[in-house]
Amino acid sequence: MQTGKINVQTENIFPIIKKFLYSDHEIFLRELVSNAVDATTKLKTLSSLDKYKEELGDLTIEIELDKKKKTLTFIDKGIGMTAEEVEQFINQIAFSGAEAFLKKYKGKSEDEQSGLIGHFGLGFYSSFMVSDRVEIRSKTYKKGSGSKAVHWECDGSPDYTLDDCDKTTRGTEIVLHISDESSEFLEEQRIVDLLHKYCKFLPVPIRFGNEKTWEKSETEKDDKGEPKSVEVEKPRIINNTNPLWKQKPVDLKEEDYKNFYRELYPMSFDEPLFSIHLNVDYPFNLTGILYFPKLKKNYEVQRDKIQLYCNQVFVTDSVEGIVPDFLTMLHGVLDSPDIPLNVSRSYLQSDQNVKKISGHIMKKVADKLEELFKNNRGEFESKWDDIRMFIEYGMISEAKFYERGEKFCLLKNTENKYFTFDEYRNHTKAAQTDKDKNLVYLYTSNTEEQFGYIATARDRGYDVLVMDGPIDNHFVNAIEQKLEKTQFARVDADVIDKIIKHEDAIAPLITEEQQKQLIPVFEKSIDKTRFHVVFESLGVNDLPVLITQPEFMRRMKDMSAMGGGYSFMGNMPDSYNLVINSNHKLISQVLELKDEAEQETLSKQLIDLALLSQNLLKGEALAGFIKRSVDIIG
Ligand code: ADP
Repeated sequence: MQTGKINVQTENIFPIIKKFLYSDHEIFLRELVSNAVDATTKLKTLSSLDKYKEELGDLTIEIELDKKKKTLTFIDKGIGMTAEEVEQFINQIAFSGAEAFLKKYKGKSEDEQSGLIGHFGLGFYSSFMVSDRVEIRSKTYKKGSGSKAVHWECDGSPDYTLDDCDKTTRGTEIVLHISDESSEFLEEQRIVDLLHKYCKFLPVPIRFGNEKTWEKSETEKDDKGEPKSVEVEKPRIINNTNPLWKQKPVDLKEEDYKNFYRELYPMSFDEPLFSIHLNVDYPFNLTGILYFPKLKKNYEVQRDKIQLYCNQVFVTDSVEGIVPDFLTMLHGVLDSPDIPLNVSRSYLQSDQNVKKISGHIMKKVADKLEELFKNNRGEFESKWDDIRMFIEYGMISEAKFYERGEKFCLLKNTENKYFTFDEYRNHTKAAQTDKDKNLVYLYTSNTEEQFGYIATARDRGYDVLVMDGPIDNHFVNAIEQKLEKTQFARVDADVIDKIIKHEDAIAPLITEEQQKQLIPVFEKSIDKTRFHVVFESLGVNDLPVLITQPEFMRRMKDMSAMGGGYSFMGNMPDSYNLVINSNHKLISQVLELKDEAEQETLSKQLIDLALLSQNLLKGEALAGFIKRSVDIIG
């Protein structure tokens, strides 16, 4: 037997590795299984190049748990290692990686340190996070001298032993003697869960013991003469070695994508709306499938549903910083060997490859949306409500996506008709251009609550857009800045003839002097800090009193509610205009009433009706209104 000291200057590296990997002990399993997969894939490559001429045999990687011996063993039938290779790859190279790691870790945050580990080829040594002792038994695929099976053992100090062993089959066995603190990794279910998490789509079959399932018996029959269900024990194969994203899109049907969605998210009941198959090999390598989920008006968008893989090894399901934020609303998988996966997020965000990949994904998503829009507009419209938040968010947050979205982003009006930006401009241009040549887009944020205002606008022949999505406040602001000479105004922002001014207003029926007299009459019945009395010369058929909420103030408040730089506005009360129609005969009547009590009753009644139509009359005030109304009728 040969003993040796692993060549490191730092005496004891393991306590340091242990400490810095603390948060993520479970990744040892990912590292060991991917080493086994690598060794197997290398052998397959040698065989396909005819450099390995023997039978490959069954290449399934086996994981064995022995609770009594407290061991977890990883067995592959890959290329194996000679004694020299163990010396070189395990004792020297891995440790030079470890040393480089130690040099780097100084001065880094803990998060970054744990992120760095795989980057330095410390994969194998992560096994010491959970083990007191690790053994390697390996037999190379090579023939001839030096091809004897070797046994390496190390207890976490720099001392190791290396000798021959009796292993007769090709490949490597890694035996972990699990430490007492890590006994969770001796629980079968824990290992099953971890294998499902990290290894579900690895390209070589992975087996972990057996599992029991029910099957129809070929020989036994039940009472009715049907094949009887019997319990059978079968090898538990963890993974799907040929996941959909690795297959050619031309060979796949819509149904395959739906089934794969179910495989990815067995707990999800919703079907995806559509999918995008990514397949790039130049200038970087990227495959994957992205799904559009139904978003609805749900504020709580399910993020973290995209799984990131590196050559089919699961890496993370938190892709923030790797793809633009709006894309994290999508579901699915991304697989790329070119994303430096084991480094910190801040590193990822500045990485050029990552930027290119992001840009590419964004382009593909836009291509798909445009294609759907062009090929089947009806279907695209039917899905619009489910995807609009995604598109709007993308257009707000990414200038490049805005440029693309302009072509397929839709605006919906109160008649449920859909328009592209260009179509809508043409649709409204004639009627809604005001005397200053500005085009005014009217919108509602709630078709029920703003019903009366919508009706008034429609009566004038105006079109009203429905902007009731969760981020429509932002969206309206964003597109207003991009569209030429176009303004948005909510239907209740002002009286309609002031929102869209065609010519100067008609002369009011009551004089300015009389208006001054009326102000205190109306102010008596309202909270002056919230309502501002204004007179407007409206039509004789319009309402006598109206409540409006100026567009600018309301938008500022809406923005503050969503965070951002306007939070100082959040504490301010809503402010409204109490608009008095100076052409209405009931207003002249208020003026003419000599009895102060009667004057107050009528003005109050008019104000309350206006409040009621804006859904602002509540509680005691509402009860008072009802009582007063009954008195008036009676
Ligand atoms: P990395 O996988 O990042 O290179 P590791 O520390 O995990 O770093 O492994 C070091 C080296 O040891 C590998 O590159 C490989 O050459 C060798 N090795 C590890 N596990 C196996 C295995 N199961 N079969 C053959 N060689 C292996």
